[in-house]
Amino acid sequence: MTQAPATVEAHQSAILAAITPLPPVSVALADAAGCVLAEDVTAAVSLPSFDNSGMDGYAVQATDTHRSSERSPATLPVKGEIAAGDTGVFRLVPGAAIKIMTGARMPADADAVVPVEWTNGGNERVEIYRPVEPGNAVRYTGGDAVAGETLLEPGVRMRAMQIAVAASAGRKKVSVRPRPRVVVLSTGNELTEPGTPLVPGQIWDSNSYMLAAAAREAGALACRRSVVPDDPAGVLPALEEQLHHADLLVTTGGVSMGGEHDVVKAALRELGTVTFTKVAMQPGMPQGFGTLGENRVPIFTLPGNPVSAYVSFQLFVRPAIAALQGAGDLWLPAVRATLTAGVRSPESRRSYLRGVFGGDKVTPLSGQGSHQIAALGKANALIVVPERETRLPSGETVDVLVLP
Ligand code: AMP
Ligand code: MG
Repeated sequence: MTQAPATVEAHQSAILAAITPLPPVSVALADAAGCVLAEDVTAAVSLPSFDNSGMDGYAVQATDTHRSSERSPATLPVKGEIAAGDTGVFRLVPGAAIKIMTGARMPADADAVVPVEWTNGGNERVEIYRPVEPGNAVRYTGGDAVAGETLLEPGVRMRAMQIAVAASAGRKKVSVRPRPRVVVLSTGNELTEPGTPLVPGQIWDSNSYMLAAAAREAGALACRRSVVPDDPAGVLPALEEQLHHADLLVTTGGVSMGGEHDVVKAALRELGTVTFTKVAMQPGMPQGFGTLGENRVPIFTLPGNPVSAYVSFQLFVRPAIAALQGAGDLWLPAVRATLTAGVRSPESRRSYLRGVFGGDKVTPLSGQGSHQIAALGKANALIVVPERETRLPSGETVDVLVLP
């Protein structure tokens, strides 16, 4: 009896249920890029931690500028200069101005900064052409965050912005879940290395290069291993060899619907820890997922057709990599867009068509076969056609997954 295909969501849930986040490690802040935070980062001090000038100009009492204009400027004596980084204590004498630079500490008794652009830039005396309100161009203590405030929470990926926040919070180290180590293996007697001559019947292995790159895009440390031939006896040893330096394994090929050359399926099915599932999608119907070895390393056996392998990676492996890192957001960004051309889809399967997304429109690419890698190279999005639809006309609104 054949089982009904699983939904994409059911397969995703089964995968995520089997993933345990990697243990956190403390790393130097500079090494945290691409990792996922495993602790709160709180502000050690208020940000800013002292009142300071938001512009180059003159620290003043706002009332001293109130009647100033181009025609009749207020003229104030300039009593000193404060640069960013000056740590001395300055006090403004009412009726005077102090030249001040962006980021410099506000002098006591000043309540506003006149931008240099609104003055004649004078050094001894300054002419002020516009009145300022109290607080003008002043960055107050705690205006960004107050001491003790949580700035970053566990699950956030440490990109440039978050690294900046952690550094601004005074952190030298942060606790993160590291980049998972992903090993990619292609299987197939037909595969040879790009750069070597082809004889008819052979193709260059693109999947292992593609998936290692996709894994890196997903935040992993990825490497590829040499192609595994279609020899049932060789598959398991080749995989087991990787177990001690992999947090996640990906294979491609050898899992079709039942041919005798489906060596990956043949080698892993007997173990009982890897399940082969039909998923109601196109491309990428045959999926295998499970764990290997005593450390229960997650393994994905993706189909061999390159587009199938790619789509499967984005739907199933990418979220698993994110889950290994404890990331708060596992999924590709989804948007709604209008189809610029009609599309077709097989009954009872969800299609992920390659398309070009921009603005609020998405254009399906021609060449939607699961071997048609040329079209994949033009795509920036997957157009989702629901299971119940077999065709959607131009102008229809569809879900679109934006590719990394
Ligand atoms: P399989 O799943 O092994 O039956 O392979 C399905 C199709 O994908 C066949 O046309 C293979 O030649 C192709 N294929 C399998 N592995 C790769 C690979 N690593 N790179 C490019 N094409 C592949
Ligand atoms: Mg094969």
